[in-house]
Amino acid sequence: MRVRNKPWAKELIADHPHYVIPNPEEYKGKWTEAFGNDQPLHIEVGTGKGQFITEMAKANPHINYIGIELFESVIVTALERLIEAELPNVKLLNVNAEDLTDYFQKGDVDRVYLNFSDPWPKKRHAKRRLTYKTFLKRYEDILPSGGEIHFKTDNQGLFEYSLQSFSEYGMLLTFVSLDLHNSDYEGNIMTEYEEKFSSKGQRIYRSEAKFRV
Ligand code: SAM
Repeated sequence: MRVRNKPWAKELIADHPHYVIPNPEEYKGKWTEAFGNDQPLHIEVGTGKGQFITEMAKANPHINYIGIELFESVIVTALERLIEAELPNVKLLNVNAEDLTDYFQKGDVDRVYLNFSDPWPKKRHAKRRLTYKTFLKRYEDILPSGGEIHFKTDNQGLFEYSLQSFSEYGMLLTFVSLDLHNSDYEGNIMTEYEEKFSSKGQRIYRSEAKFRV
């Protein structure tokens, strides 16, 4: 993702603490308080500009969503979408996913979405991939036992690597599509990257993997 410097982003984020939670560690174990209800919580790690999370939230008002994004100049676009749509069931965290367990405890999160995660193709950067085993451990630590990761990408190399990583971690693959847009799968909500790559004719890969019970 190309990251442009947006000096105004910091101020817009600070002005909307209801949407971009400034102190997420205070909600560890009590995200129901942040949302004011006890609906299930699904998170997207690496949410980018927020198209997926906001469209999911509109389609599923009975589920709460949190989008997690490292760069404020990117997450600010997700915030603008939220301000526009006035969605009560979405929050954003401008944090590094390496620190997920600072913000969530076991069972706080009911599902993890990873969409078009940065592929980090060089072997020496494998640890940065969001499906590397240390990230899987973090997801396992915040999901209930048997919790799921739903993953989409256009990158065949990252997909192959991730299926292997899920499998080596002892996860059960419950869904795999090697060409999502030409499959029977219904109800797909596209991310920004998905729209971009599929419009160029690239295939979209999708998997669902479940942690051991
Ligand atoms: N999910 C969006 C989509 O499908 O359109 C964005 C995909 S973009 C390629 C990946 C995003 O993940 C980037 O915005 C990047 O900043 C974010 N990201 C990568 N590593 C991250 C991390 N460790 N913590 C939080 N966000 C991360």
